[in-house]
Amino acid sequence: MTTSNKQTSPRIQRTLPKTGVDWLHNPVFNKGTAFTEAERDALGLRGLLPPHVQTMAEQVQRVMANFRSKSSDLERYIQIAGLQDRNETLFYRVVMDNLEELMPIIYTPTVGKACQEYGHIFRRSRGCYISSNDRGLVEKVLANWPTRDVKVIVVTDGERILGLGDLGASGMGIPVGKLSLYTACAGIHPTQCLPVTIDVGTDNETLLADPLYIGLRQKRIRGGEYDALIEEFVVAAEKLFPGVLIQFEDFGNRNAFRLLEKYRDRACTFNDDIQGTGSVALAGILSALRITGQKLADQRVLFLGAGEAGIGIAENIVACLVEEGLPLAEARKRCWFVDSKGLVIKSRKDLTEHKLHFAHDHAPCGDLLSAVKLLKPTMLLGVSGQPKTFTEEIVKLMAEANPRPVIFALSNPTSKAECTAEEAYRWTGGRAVFASGSPFAPVTVGGKTLVPGQGNNAYIFPGVGLGVVCTGARRVTDAMFIKAARTLASLIRDNELAEGRVYPSLSRIHEVSHAIAVAVAQEVYAKKLNTLSRPEDLPGYIRSQMFKPEYPNYTAK
Ligand code: NAD
Repeated sequence: MTTSNKQTSPRIQRTLPKTGVDWLHNPVFNKGTAFTEAERDALGLRGLLPPHVQTMAEQVQRVMANFRSKSSDLERYIQIAGLQDRNETLFYRVVMDNLEELMPIIYTPTVGKACQEYGHIFRRSRGCYISSNDRGLVEKVLANWPTRDVKVIVVTDGERILGLGDLGASGMGIPVGKLSLYTACAGIHPTQCLPVTIDVGTDNETLLADPLYIGLRQKRIRGGEYDALIEEFVVAAEKLFPGVLIQFEDFGNRNAFRLLEKYRDRACTFNDDIQGTGSVALAGILSALRITGQKLADQRVLFLGAGEAGIGIAENIVACLVEEGLPLAEARKRCWFVDSKGLVIKSRKDLTEHKLHFAHDHAPCGDLLSAVKLLKPTMLLGVSGQPKTFTEEIVKLMAEANPRPVIFALSNPTSKAECTAEEAYRWTGGRAVFASGSPFAPVTVGGKTLVPGQGNNAYIFPGVGLGVVCTGARRVTDAMFIKAARTLASLIRDNELAEGRVYPSLSRIHEVSHAIAVAVAQEVYAKKLNTLSRPEDLPGYIRSQMFKPEYPNYTAK
């Protein structure tokens, strides 16, 4: 049997189901009530489905009516995850057609709640779990995955899930959600995506005491034992899925930077919390400058939080300034940090290596308010995971010092945001250029409706991944993320900027991901990092590789 849909080719490499019930129970092949009369006859499905053959549009209508009738976002998450487990094609049709409504459910903020409740809402296993009990067996465990045609892995060890901390094996919701976005935003084929959770234990006492927790009942392993397990995973993944892109996701601070440095020149890998965040925030900053009419070199950026996100963003700002001709040391002086111990300055003895680049000569300063008073930043970026830290006094000081203060409250989920969109706009009389990590609704101030930007990494990583996969890139470089940021910023239209947006509407995500993939591919070829030859029509080729959720005709000759 063949399928008439060339675009879904990766799926036909998998063994076709044998019985009618197998067809219905396999989410890759299942069409549910949309199996045609001819398919029902040919595949042994007659009688196993209600008689009326539905169109996909009717199925979408049913799913969305159900979705909207639910009483909570967590219920919506459970419903939509159930659909993904039953019928992937319909799941992606629904998500792609309703991305703005679905994104906050399949990703932040609801995915955070789902991870917190993972053991309690668990229905069906998705992804691959590798535990510290699997030492020496990781290749065997990964080989249980049903296909070798894996192009993208998102892997977490669950230690720093969004701004929610250590959720251990319950962090699986994040790789699952991120990979859904690879498909929904950039059309990476769903069967080429593999979510992985490495369960090394958890230090979260609540989870350890929870009888329904899904992970190992042990404290996290660390040091050499931990490193050996990660190494075994990377080696096995590269062996079983040659050239696979490995995205490290939501690792704790102490491992994230180390692992990025260890693997970035050895494997096709990146860390989205550092590099993806750096890129999406840089794009927001470049768009904000189009609103304020200023130059990047004239900014003084103050960060609250000097972790993966903050340092990642600062490194990207610096790289961008260096590209524009500023010496490295000068570029670094544009970025200042306040962490949990106060202003990051040279005289502090407690700084980790990644913070040292941004430790400047300055007198000690213990808190954000004093730092804002002293430094008079033009941009204030919150990446601390500490809610309500951009107080009215701080935001008003920003508005006193700047005609259009740039205020990004990026901590996730919504409950962790440093301030809300409404607060930022109200306290500045509508002058703030605002973006957040999780979505906020538009706000009307003084008769004008302002649309807050969502600095969602989903603007960047799916497009970068598509560019990497389409070129067979051997490495992922920082330059690719700068290209992605510049491309994203260039796509925002004047009418979107006029509404206060610093990112294009999510409804344009396919166009955005495609443009980023083309820019990344050009960078790959320029640096000779490709393993696949360059097609004549690069944009056309990349578009042809993007998955479209359409049902194949299983009886076509
Ligand atoms: P992290 O744990 O690596 O870093 C957190 C930093 O905040 C640390 O430097 C810590 O010292 C500092 N901090 C903690 N308490 C503080 C306090 N009271 N005052 C000042 N600083 C304090 O985490 P991360 O990966 O950098 O993520 C931070 C936040 O940013 C999270 O909420 C995350 O969800 C969010 N984030 C948003 C985006 C986005 O919007 N696109 C992307 C990535 C991360």
